[in-house]
Amino acid sequence: MTIPTVELPSGVHMPTFGIGTWRMGEDRRRRKDETDAIRHGVDLGFTLIDTAEMYGDGGAEEAIADAIAGRRDGLFIVSKVYPHNASRRGAVAACERSLKRLRIERIDLYLLHWIGSVPFEETIAAFQKLKDDGKIGDWGVSNFDVDDLQSWHAKDGGRCATNQVMFNLARRGVEFDLLPWMRQRRMPLMAYSPFDQGPLARHRTLKAIADRHGATPAQIALAWLLQLPGVVAIPKSADKGRLSENFAALKVKLTDADLAELDRAFPPPRNKRSLSIV
Ligand code: NAP
Repeated sequence: MTIPTVELPSGVHMPTFGIGTWRMGEDRRRRKDETDAIRHGVDLGFTLIDTAEMYGDGGAEEAIADAIAGRRDGLFIVSKVYPHNASRRGAVAACERSLKRLRIERIDLYLLHWIGSVPFEETIAAFQKLKDDGKIGDWGVSNFDVDDLQSWHAKDGGRCATNQVMFNLARRGVEFDLLPWMRQRRMPLMAYSPFDQGPLARHRTLKAIADRHGATPAQIALAWLLQLPGVVAIPKSADKGRLSENFAALKVKLTDADLAELDRAFPPPRNKRSLSIV
C-alpha cells in the first residue's frame, strides 16, 4: 500500500500518514522496543516520522536515528523546536542539535512547537537561515489558532507549510474555521492525537462501524482523518502489532452511511472552539 501525498505551498509532496513519537525516548529500558517499532513502521511503508526536541528530551530523535540508520532516503522527517529555543540564534542551534541526534543532514519539515514569547519575525529569520543552509526543507507551526496563523503567514510571505494541531473525531473544533482557512491557502493540516490519545480506539460507535468493515475502531478513527482532503494523520504506537493495524487503516474506505453515523455520534462544530495546546 502506498501512502498518498499532499502538496505543500513549496511544491514539495508530503505523505498524508505517518508515525508519531511523543512519549518515546523517555526510558532507556524501552529504547530497543521503540526503535524496533519505528523500524517496523518503516518496513510496513510509513514514510513520515513526526518528532520534537521535547520528546524524551531528545531521546525520541535518537530512537528514530537508530531505526532509520542506512535508510534515510525516501523518508520525510518532521521535528519541532521548543518556543523558548525559537530565537534567531536559538532555533538554529536547536535544529543543529536535533540533526545530530537524528544523525541526518536535513529535517524535511521543522515546526515551532507552540507559541512562546519570541517574536515571530525572529523565528522566521532562523527558519529562513536553516533553509538557506540546507538544514531544513520546509518550515511550519503547531498549535496555532486562525488569528495567530494569519499573523505568522503574513510575516513569512505565505511560506508556512503546515500547522500541526489536535484533530480527531472527538475534537473537531478546527473544522469550524482553521481547516477551511488552511485549505484556501493549500496548506495541509497535520492532525495529532488521532485516537484522542487512546479512548477513540475503544469507542462503541467506532466499534460498530469497524465490525461492518472487518476492521478495528482505531482503524475507523484513522480512516476518517485520511479521507479528509488536506489532512495528515500521525498516530503514535510503540507496538509493532498496533503499528501494522494502524497502517492497514489505509485499506478502510468509509461509506456515506458510515460518515453520517460518525457525524451523529461526533457532531461537527457549530461555533468556534479554542484549540488544545500540549
Ligand atoms: P494518539 O496517537 O491519539 O494515541 C496514542 C496512544 O494510542 C498510545 O497510548 C498508543 O499506545 C495507543 N494506540 C496506538 N495505536 C493503537 C491501536 N491501534 N489501538 C489501540 N491503541 C492504540 O496520541 P498522541 O501520541 O498524542 O498523538 C500522535 C502524535 O502526534 C504524537 O506521538 C506526536 O508525534 C504528535 N503530537 C504532537 C503534538 C504537538 O503539540 N504538536 C501534541 C501531541 C502529539 P501504544 O504506543 O502502546 O500502542
